[in-house]
Amino acid sequence: MQLYNSLSHSKEEFVPNQPGKVSMYTCGPTVYHYAHIGNLRTYLMEDILDRYLRYSGYDVTRVMNITDVGHLSSDADTGEDKMLKGAKREHKTVMEIAKFYTDCFFSDCEKLHIRRPEVVQPATGCIDDFIKVISALLEKGYAYLAGGNVYFDTSKLKQYYVFHNFEEEDLAVGVREGVEEDGNKRNKADFVLWFTKSKFDDQELKWESPWGVGYPGWHIECSCISMKYLGERLDIHCGGIDNAFPHHTNEIAQSEAYIGHKWCNYWFHVLHLNTTSGKMSKSSGEFLTLSLLEQKGYDPMVYRFFCLQSHYRKSLVFSYENLDNAKIAYKKLIAKIAALKEDGPIDDAVFAAQKEKFLQAMDNDLNTALAVTALYDALKISANDATKLALIREYDKVLCLGLTDAAESSTPEVPAANDALIREIEEQINARKAAKAAKNYAEADRIRAELAARGITLIDTKEGTTFRIEGA
Ligand code: AMP
Ligand code: ZN
Repeated sequence: MQLYNSLSHSKEEFVPNQPGKVSMYTCGPTVYHYAHIGNLRTYLMEDILDRYLRYSGYDVTRVMNITDVGHLSSDADTGEDKMLKGAKREHKTVMEIAKFYTDCFFSDCEKLHIRRPEVVQPATGCIDDFIKVISALLEKGYAYLAGGNVYFDTSKLKQYYVFHNFEEEDLAVGVREGVEEDGNKRNKADFVLWFTKSKFDDQELKWESPWGVGYPGWHIECSCISMKYLGERLDIHCGGIDNAFPHHTNEIAQSEAYIGHKWCNYWFHVLHLNTTSGKMSKSSGEFLTLSLLEQKGYDPMVYRFFCLQSHYRKSLVFSYENLDNAKIAYKKLIAKIAALKEDGPIDDAVFAAQKEKFLQAMDNDLNTALAVTALYDALKISANDATKLALIREYDKVLCLGLTDAAESSTPEVPAANDALIREIEEQINARKAAKAAKNYAEADRIRAELAARGITLIDTKEGTTFRIEGA
């Protein structure tokens, strides 16, 4: 299997440390609010990696942290603590907020068929582990005390910027965020391992430590939780692309300084889901959650399908038009599967040849877009229905779109009436296109309005016009 590795900036043959076994670490959510559908895209594509490794026969152990302390509103050491902000917003304690949003996160994951990792570890449960590693880093000379905080000294490393060649000057995170830089740092890239002092409101959660009562930085938690459960040689570390710097860069710095050798072999980063106006955010614009999509009538499987239609290393634009297209395509797919019958023995030769296409797509850096194409191809081949159904079931072990379940519970449509309606709508779309081309906008508007009155909404996309039938 070929997997893109952010460390080498290239696709590499995946070879785990121990034959047949994979250790996989995933940066978990910061539980101060609901996950937005961008966050969920990352977990969904990581789930595909997890499931495909298992499908390929690996014994996977996956660990995820829950960030319930230490993540500041900038990903570096400046800004307010996200958990504290959440608690203030809702007039609750940090632990109440953490519990509530952790449950919401896993409920979203369940709806999206995202497997729960073997180990889910909240950061607040591992303070002693953080203190142990920070103490060792101080002892080895990789960390220093300044102004009450413990900092990692990045100048002690041969190479700090492992993913990109950042220049120190480009790194003025604090300046970019409109926050003063931390004068305690010896080097601009240094980061906090343990805080006892912050210029922001006092932390609610604090622990005794050799350096005073305080709390850990965000980065140390992932290094320690990963090493605690998966040891000093990790196969795959996952996260969204924004985590590559500074979070993962800092994780590598402190982990390798601590253990004295290479820590993780493969870095798997998922590109972002953006809105048409840019970055997806929890604080501005529409807060796009899975529940919001459900309220608007979208099945979580439609969102999973939408994500699988593109490769994880391409950023993806979310719009309701794009999601509507996925919804229509998913419904059509289910209808086609629902029409298949168990009509005899499976044709093993055809099955094997078709499955090869799916494996090739997935082995090529998890090309889910091509795997979805293989799914459509399985419906088109000249074989009996039983062979097609067997292929769909096989692919769905990895894609987990609930295809055959959805097909079994779908109400059969009246094909003749449905086809006639679809033909009529398509004719109307063509007539409207012709009217627009002739600059007869009144006629184009009339066609759209007449269809709208019948519960049929036309959706204009770059690729052309599609439609949505109310209640369909
Ligand atoms: P957080 O809860 O902020 O720690 O983020 C959870 C995960 O979502 C991390 O792996 C982030 O890298 C990822 N993430 C954040 N924004 C997006 C986005 N717009 N699209 C995809 N993943 C994202
Ligand atoms: Zn992390």
